[in-house]
Amino acid sequence: MTAALDVGGTSLRYNIIGTDGSLVASESMSTHEKGLVKAVESIVKKYGIKKIGISYAGQVYNGKIISAPNIGVDEPEIWEYFLKNHNIELFIENDLKCAALAEYEYWGCNSTIVAASIGTGFGSAIIENGKLVRGAHNLAGEIGHIPFKYSEVLCGCGNRYCIEAFCSGSALSRWSKYYNLPIKEYTIQNLQRLGSPEADRILENFHEAFLFSIGTIISLINPEMIILGGGVIKKNRYLLELVNENVYKYSLSTSRKQAEIIISELDNASIKGAQLLVDRSV
Ligand SMILES: [Zn+2]
Repeated sequence: MTAALDVGGTSLRYNIIGTDGSLVASESMSTHEKGLVKAVESIVKKYGIKKIGISYAGQVYNGKIISAPNIGVDEPEIWEYFLKNHNIELFIENDLKCAALAEYEYWGCNSTIVAASIGTGFGSAIIENGKLVRGAHNLAGEIGHIPFKYSEVLCGCGNRYCIEAFCSGSALSRWSKYYNLPIKEYTIQNLQRLGSPEADRILENFHEAFLFSIGTIISLINPEMIILGGGVIKKNRYLLELVNENVYKYSLSTSRKQAEIIISELDNASIKGAQLLVDRSV
C-alpha cells in the first residue's frame, strides 16, 4: 500500500491507496503534539505502507525540508530517515508544486500552465511540458513576493513591497488590524459589508495586486492555462470574473488571448499531486 499526505501548519490529511489503486482510507490527524516524523510513522505502522508521497506547506529541496512555517519539523532529511529506519521510499514536494502536477494531469494539458493559490499566502507553481519549473533551489514561482508597491504593513517574508502584503488572507487580517477595523473575521465578505473607507482601500489594493500578479504571470510565462485555487479564491468566485474582465490592462494582449483562466475543480489538488509523486516513481 502507498500513502499520499497533505501536510499543513498544524495537521495533515492522508489517503491510503491499495495495490489495485483503490482508496483504502482517507483521514486526518494533528501534527502539533507529536511532530511530523512520529505522525508519519504511526500511519506507516497502521497500514503497512511501502511508499509515501508528501505535499508539504513549506520549502523543500531535493527531498529535504528547507523551511517550515508553523510546522514542527523534527527531521529535515525526512526521505533519508524513512529509507534508513523503515526501508520506505518517501517523496516530498512543496504543496503548490504538487497541486500544479495534479491540475496539469486533470486538465489534460500539454504545454505550460501556472497554478496560483491565494490562501493565507499567495503562491504559484509552473509546469512546462509536464515538468515543474523549479529554479536553482526549487523556489521558482513565488509570485506573492514579486514587488508591487510600498506597504506600510510588512509582508510575511519581512519585505515591504510584496504582492502578498496586499493580496492574501494574511494581508486582509494585517491591514484590518492596522486600521483597527471592527470585524472579527478578516474576510473579503466582512470588509465588503463594513464598507468603510479603510475597508474599501484594503479591497481596492487586494484587487489591484491580484490583477497585477495574474498579468505578470501571463506576460512572463505565457501559459495556456492559469488555474486559481486556495481558500480565498474558492470563497470569492467573483475574483475570476474580475480577472477575466480586467487582466488585459495588465498583460501583453497576444499572450492574454491564449491564456485560459479558471478556478480549480479539484477538492484537494495537493494530495492528488502527492499521489502522483508516488505513482511516477515506479
Ligand atoms: Zn514577501
